[in-house]
Amino acid sequence: MSADPAGWELVNPNRGGYSVIEATNWYSYVSNNPVKYYVDPTGKVSWVVQNGKCIDRRGYEKKPSGSNNPPSGGGSWGGGRTSRTSHRRRMNPKEATFVHEVLGNQGFLAMRTVRIRRASGGRASAMPWGTISSRSVDYNNPMGSNYGRNSLIHEAFHQVQYSSKNGAFLKLVEEQILKIFGKDVYASGNYKITSIAQYSDLDSMSYLEAQAQMVGDFGELYYTAKYTTTPLSQIKKDALQEMSRIMKASGYESEATRWVDANFS
Ligand SMILES: [Zn+2]
Repeated sequence: MSADPAGWELVNPNRGGYSVIEATNWYSYVSNNPVKYYVDPTGKVSWVVQNGKCIDRRGYEKKPSGSNNPPSGGGSWGGGRTSRTSHRRRMNPKEATFVHEVLGNQGFLAMRTVRIRRASGGRASAMPWGTISSRSVDYNNPMGSNYGRNSLIHEAFHQVQYSSKNGAFLKLVEEQILKIFGKDVYASGNYKITSIAQYSDLDSMSYLEAQAQMVGDFGELYYTAKYTTTPLSQIKKDALQEMSRIMKASGYESEATRWVDANFS
């Protein structure tokens, strides 16, 4: 990845006095308090997600855009400002922990700023202003399926690309256009299609999508190997080791790369 000063400043978890410890406290605060009333210490969030619903600071459930129904439990919507923004949420502790496990300290960048939004369509995406759009089923529980975990890491990695590479968004838009014209911009990182042993690091893959694809696959294979009883095929074991090597070579040493080194070398 690019090591320009602005990039490193952005991924520094201690930027602006917001430390790793505070990040941890934020999540324990939420998980220790069945939330009725909650204001994020950064002042940016006045609601939380509880049982899959957005609950505002008065304890009312936020409804998606266009809803005129009164909130369950009575009261009003307070001027009806129930835009789609209210269907954004922070990562929950499980998701944030997983992102940190796979992306290492760089994952704290995503953990601090990213909001997950319920997508209207079936596709996940990441926008440079810090929003990850997620399929409805994964919005409710990205950690509930292989697809959800892979997609969470893939989109979180796009956020890392936005903060560490100038022009990443335009390059990703360009890649989507190439895809329309038949270029498989995801393939070089896809161990199912192409051997990844040829790559020295993520930047040696031509496309940012291919990089994100590999990082997402790495997260998925790591999760399967460590947390499930599903045995990995030899192809997937080999791929997991190669991916771990590529992650480290690209500056993303993490709990995941250390675990793979300890268990597969
Ligand atoms: Zn992508």
